[in-house]
Amino acid sequence: MERIIEWIGGCSRRAIAVGFIAALCFGGGAAAAGREEPAVSAKRHVAIVIDDFGNRMDGTEDMLKLPVKITAAVMPFMPTTKEDAELAHKLGHDVIVHMPMEPKSGLKSWLGPGAIMTGMSDDEIRKRVEAAIDNVPHAIGMNNHMGSKATADERVMRVVLTVCKERGLFFLDSRTTWKSVIPKVAAELGVPLVSNEIFLDDVYSEKHIAGQLALVRKFLETHDACVMIGHVGVPGKKTAGVLQRSIPAMQSSIEFVKLKTMVSPLPSDPLILPDA
Ligand SMILES: [Zn+2]
Repeated sequence: MERIIEWIGGCSRRAIAVGFIAALCFGGGAAAAGREEPAVSAKRHVAIVIDDFGNRMDGTEDMLKLPVKITAAVMPFMPTTKEDAELAHKLGHDVIVHMPMEPKSGLKSWLGPGAIMTGMSDDEIRKRVEAAIDNVPHAIGMNNHMGSKATADERVMRVVLTVCKERGLFFLDSRTTWKSVIPKVAAELGVPLVSNEIFLDDVYSEKHIAGQLALVRKFLETHDACVMIGHVGVPGKKTAGVLQRSIPAMQSSIEFVKLKTMVSPLPSDPLILPDA
């Protein structure tokens, strides 16, 4: 148990730099590739993705009881993987596989079971991705847990994304590295892709989380949609609390949508999501 808590904490700590960089880019108007400018009167779309389900971490129930639909990213092979995925699905939320993938640095104990390492053979990677998908009920997509090294490796991502395509899953690039090859490989293979814009709780304080939501609103002044990622675990209750209090006011100008509605359909390969 301690080890599990340690790697969950590690995941969120690793997000600090990414969130910081994302915040800087938001100030500079970083564009989400391929998105069009919104009509003036249209409500902006926001998808809330919550990572690290699967171990009944702090905030699990609070997140699943938020007044809008979220996307629950569930770790495979964990004590409550199936329970959390089933509950999320029952409550109408989307479920995706939160696939542990090798980071550039950090303890392997932060990764959790079934992780994809860059030293593995294609066959081993394929087996692990298939097993993870089979282990998370109702999964309609996948995103990466950590993964700053693996998501920069074309060979590795080609195998991971090939399996996603075969199984009808879209991929959410958590963007834990600016060297991610996921957009390139996903486009080559024709895998539907969506990308994270901002980490909500890379610093564990309500003030910071509220500040990240302010960045989301700022981003939506020039973009029609935004994906944001929060976590159960160490910051879980704080993040859920801030979201619970902020969502009603945000709904005057924002429509909270399921992540799958933001996945770009492919012109030559229309997106057909499995009816999970
Ligand atoms: Zn994670």
